[in-house]
Amino acid sequence: MSDFKFKKSLGQNFLQDNNVIHKIVDSANLDKDTLLIEIGPGGGAITRYTVPLCGHALLYEADSRLEENLNELLKENNNYSILIGDFLKSNLKEDIVKYSYSKIYVVANLPYYITTPIIMKFIDNDILPDKMVVMVQKEVASRLSASIGSRDYGSLTVFLNYYYDIKKLFDVSRNCFMPKPNVDSAVVCFELKKEREKVLDISLFKKLVRDSFSYKRKTIRNNLKSYDLKIVESVLLKHGFDLGVRAEALSLEVFVEMANALVLK
Ligand code: SAM
Repeated sequence: MSDFKFKKSLGQNFLQDNNVIHKIVDSANLDKDTLLIEIGPGGGAITRYTVPLCGHALLYEADSRLEENLNELLKENNNYSILIGDFLKSNLKEDIVKYSYSKIYVVANLPYYITTPIIMKFIDNDILPDKMVVMVQKEVASRLSASIGSRDYGSLTVFLNYYYDIKKLFDVSRNCFMPKPNVDSAVVCFELKKEREKVLDISLFKKLVRDSFSYKRKTIRNNLKSYDLKIVESVLLKHGFDLGVRAEALSLEVFVEMANALVLK
């Protein structure tokens, strides 16, 4: 690995700090009933510790140059598969049915240029990992774990909080990576909610949330012009708001109620 040429286009910033690596592994709490998914094992910094702890590991890596080194690093283990190629193009459903497990965990230092598409791929495929401990860009971590009314609270926050309790675990300095990226990072933990509000039409809910935040400074009246505003207003009034409110002031529950009311109209 010493003469490895890092590819910026693949977001290759490899974790070097043992303390951070162990904090990530410990937070995941893996066991032998767990199917582990890692997107971008890279040089195996995290993988070498997680694979021995899980039932089976699916390691998706876009860069075929890394396969040999990963196999060498993991040679004491026979419970892993390296899938070379673009995770976003993989057939997740087909890949996971081959294994028996009682839960799915994702533990990864994600390639930052596709953080949201990676997370959305699980949700869009209806594969909801029980837990995800992932390193993301610090700004993304703030968005994911933002509270109502804060600057970072947006459609991604609301939509993902429908499925997950999301907590930022700790910040990670850019100095912990090789090569050093020009952003800082943070590790975020997603825990699948045991109970969720019932959403009648998930694609409508997703679109409503996205549209509500489409212009952050605009009110719900302006952002949701193309919806039945009478119905939207009736839900808002129940919660003490009117159409002049901005999306950032509305909780997940209000969005769920608005989406369901629009289905039932
Ligand atoms: N896990 C390693 C670590 O922590 O040192 C590497 C993390 S590095 C931030 C991101 C990794 O994701 C790289 O190994 C890169 O090659 C891989 N990668 C980038 N795009 C990918 C994609 N579309 N599918 C699968 N892996 C990808």
